[in-house]
Amino acid sequence: MASKDQSTPPPADNLTKGPTVPSNFIRFIIDEDMETGKWGGRVHTRFPPEPNGYLHIGHAKSICLNFGLARDYRGLCNLRFDDTNPTKEEIEYVESIKEDVRWLGYDWDDREYYASDYFDQLYGFAMSLIRAGNAYVDSLSADEIRKYRGTLTEPGRESPYRERSVEENIDLFQRMKDGQFEDGAHVLRAKIDMAAPNIIMRDPTLYRIRHVPHHRTGDRWCIYPMYDFTHCLSDSIERITHSICTLEFENNRELYDWVLNQLELYHPQQIEFARLNLSYTVLSKRKLIRLVDEDHVSGWDDPRMPTISGIRRRGYTPESIRNFCERIGLAKRDSIVDIALLEHCLREDLNRRAPRVMGVLRPLKVVIENYPEGHVDMLDALNNPEDPDAGMRQVPFSREIYIERDDFMEEPPKKFFRLAPGREVRLRYAFFITCRDVVKDSATGEIVELRCTYDPATRGGDAPDGRKVKATLHWVSAAHAINAECRLYDHLFTKENPNETAEGKDFTAYLNPDALEILSDCKLEPGLLQATSGFPYQFERLGYFVVDAKDSREDRMVFNRTVTLRDTWARIQKRRK
Ligand code: ATP
Ligand code: MG
Repeated sequence: MASKDQSTPPPADNLTKGPTVPSNFIRFIIDEDMETGKWGGRVHTRFPPEPNGYLHIGHAKSICLNFGLARDYRGLCNLRFDDTNPTKEEIEYVESIKEDVRWLGYDWDDREYYASDYFDQLYGFAMSLIRAGNAYVDSLSADEIRKYRGTLTEPGRESPYRERSVEENIDLFQRMKDGQFEDGAHVLRAKIDMAAPNIIMRDPTLYRIRHVPHHRTGDRWCIYPMYDFTHCLSDSIERITHSICTLEFENNRELYDWVLNQLELYHPQQIEFARLNLSYTVLSKRKLIRLVDEDHVSGWDDPRMPTISGIRRRGYTPESIRNFCERIGLAKRDSIVDIALLEHCLREDLNRRAPRVMGVLRPLKVVIENYPEGHVDMLDALNNPEDPDAGMRQVPFSREIYIERDDFMEEPPKKFFRLAPGREVRLRYAFFITCRDVVKDSATGEIVELRCTYDPATRGGDAPDGRKVKATLHWVSAAHAINAECRLYDHLFTKENPNETAEGKDFTAYLNPDALEILSDCKLEPGLLQATSGFPYQFERLGYFVVDAKDSREDRMVFNRTVTLRDTWARIQKRRK
């Protein structure tokens, strides 16, 4: 339909060059390190997801940051699966994470690592701590350990097992590994300080017994290392320079540093930044898992979900997400970002690249009485006024067309300028039409058809006598239209911050029942038959749409509305000025 080949996907930004990035405090630290030569001029970051769910837009912030720094400082970024907790669905999650990172436009080359690959080394490090008297096997129950830990205002108490000899600790830890004990019988703890002001430093657990098979190591291990122990050592083994994580790990930094100092190992610098929170949605894996498991959504890739796979299916572009992540920048304090900003970044990108087409979501038939039966006019239409290279296409016009039901009112109020009885309007790229008669269902009184006349002299959309009309409507020729289903979306939650629940309510109480509207009788211009998933279109006046990658069939096309044309962010900014 268009002069350009629309079967090829939209072009990706030039990633190697990198856009101009606003400075942030992490870049400031790295710039300083480059000057002092702290890391020998190296920048080596990592993105460390736990494969226990699908990635969401919050992860995208971390991905863009870690891979973006590596790109801009000619460094490296590893993809490391933090798989110390054996979970059932691990393989599905690993695959989805890799797909999502790649889709965002980043590449880890051959640096795909798994914390589980380090289990042997980690066991050796634990043994070194025991030998040096810095770790011990504790036989208190989980409950007792919690009670002994103390509170923010009270110091903890030492376990009666704290003074076991090195020999006894080595023996017990080996037997833990050999499977001689039940889950929970013993744990390995660091021997630090039960009175430490930072509770994390009160003899944290390093290893626990879990007789659960692991997807990568099978039955080889029945003891698994804890996150805090694994994370710093994995960073060290991979010779990471800047270990970037979210603010909730600020207190864990002391333990990160303690482990690496005791073992006298290569020591990356941990730096924390504020995680992304978005209005009208949730970005916690635990909550997203519940939405999936409790069937509030159709799956991880439901287009209402803030997951990368969900927004990809909805029609978001990687460029718009990278741009959004740059704009929000980095902070040291948690805040909620307005989802309107994300949508604004999306519109900016789609506006540049999406060809314009016509589609009618809620069709009302119009018969043009003075148009010859069986005749077809092929009319020139602009593909994208924002892109001079996008060219023109031809759309068929005939005696029967569809217009949007909303574009007609039998008794229009004052400010309604669109079609009404006796009134003349322009059909986009076509002719002026005038409404002559309204046909109703005799039983229900519902309007089923409009009878109109057209002025052949207005072909192209202008009257030679200079007369004006107040509205331009989109339309589709009935004989040529594709029947399609269109799915319209709204925010997943009705509350700006659904995490903030009151009166003992669960966050699911704020799910938006109107987040999905399915319109099954849409009429689209025929060129859209060639539309493929991942390629965005602007349906004039209605928003940006994309073919649904999962449910669309050749004989039954399904489109998702990615976003409407109404830019609430731009309006908010204008009001602020
Ligand atoms: P959740 O809290 O949703 O369960 P998580 O932090 O447990 O997420 P991980 O798989 O451990 O999920 O996260 C991988 C990386 O992504 C971590 O470095 C984490 O700090 C970062 N990350 C997770 N959520 C966000 C967010 N909302 N904003 C920025 N970074 C995030
Ligand atoms: Mg985590």
